[in-house]
Amino acid sequence: MKIGFIGLGNMGAPMAANLAAAGYEVTGFDTAAPEPQGVIAAARAADAVRDADIVITMLPNGQILRSVASQVIPAMRPGAIFCDCSTVDVESARNVAQEARAAGLGALDAPVSGGTNGAQAGTLTFMVGGSEADFAVVAPLFDIMGQKAVHCGDSGAGQAAKICNNMILGVTMIATCEAFALADKLGLDRQKMFDVVSTSSGYSWSMNAYCPAPGVGPVSPADNGYKPGFAAELMLKDLNLSQQAAESAGAETPMGALARALYEEFVEREDGRGRDFSAMLPRFSTRNGFRP
Ligand code: NAD
Repeated sequence: MKIGFIGLGNMGAPMAANLAAAGYEVTGFDTAAPEPQGVIAAARAADAVRDADIVITMLPNGQILRSVASQVIPAMRPGAIFCDCSTVDVESARNVAQEARAAGLGALDAPVSGGTNGAQAGTLTFMVGGSEADFAVVAPLFDIMGQKAVHCGDSGAGQAAKICNNMILGVTMIATCEAFALADKLGLDRQKMFDVVSTSSGYSWSMNAYCPAPGVGPVSPADNGYKPGFAAELMLKDLNLSQQAAESAGAETPMGALARALYEEFVEREDGRGRDFSAMLPRFSTRNGFRP
């Protein structure tokens, strides 16, 4: 199976390298980043996909995905599969899948969870929308790049799962950070706070696996001066996507809306840009109260 890979940034480069290391012929293209080791360089996006059985994209947003898809879909072999792993809006995912199917191709939206560490280690989780048949063809590649792939439903279902998951993550991270800031003001030791909450009903991935307090819990970006990790602006991107989806689907998501507003304030008007999304804790700590 030959693979075309477009978008070789922080996530795409290690994912493509893992496929090449597993013995696949991978041809890659990126407008800026160099090809990682083992990946054959293409001069143009269309050249990366011409002979490919599966084309994987890992791009910044839905607009860029749509533009890349319209360049490469006409160059792909009939019967090949277009598999987008970027995090984008549900509508872009569905439009691109429709365009691919109209050209006689398979199509999957397969966003990931696990970050750059997961991409390097090949331990990502894939949440996948599209047909069962296309999922079965690409599954061996998901197994190399990740540890789990869930077929969530038709086109767009992968992106829907991703933004719902990340809306929960944004909300629980803020709740965990504001609770630590309150605990500080009440004179509660942070380690004691962790010991109780991580084994009580307030536990979550944000507390137990990615604790925002330095020196407490497992090693996390908080122990590295809040260097990302998962940057606050990427969390803002995902919360914008979940609010956009909630609006178009008519779903009420007040906590998601508040989390979006807080991350927007943090990224656009405070010092959040370029910091890990768990740096909400020092943000709350330096304030007297909660100000959405
Ligand atoms: P990145 O900015 O490092 O990589 C994106 C790459 O796409 C860049 O190298 C850029 O040069 C390239 N690119 C842009 N326009 C292009 C075009 N027209 N043709 C070809 N290449 C083009 O971003 P990333 O961190 O690798 O994230 C990629 C996607 O994965 C995003 O949608 C992001 O939301 C998602 N994601 C990221 C993480 C993370 O922790 N970084 C985790 C999960 C999901």
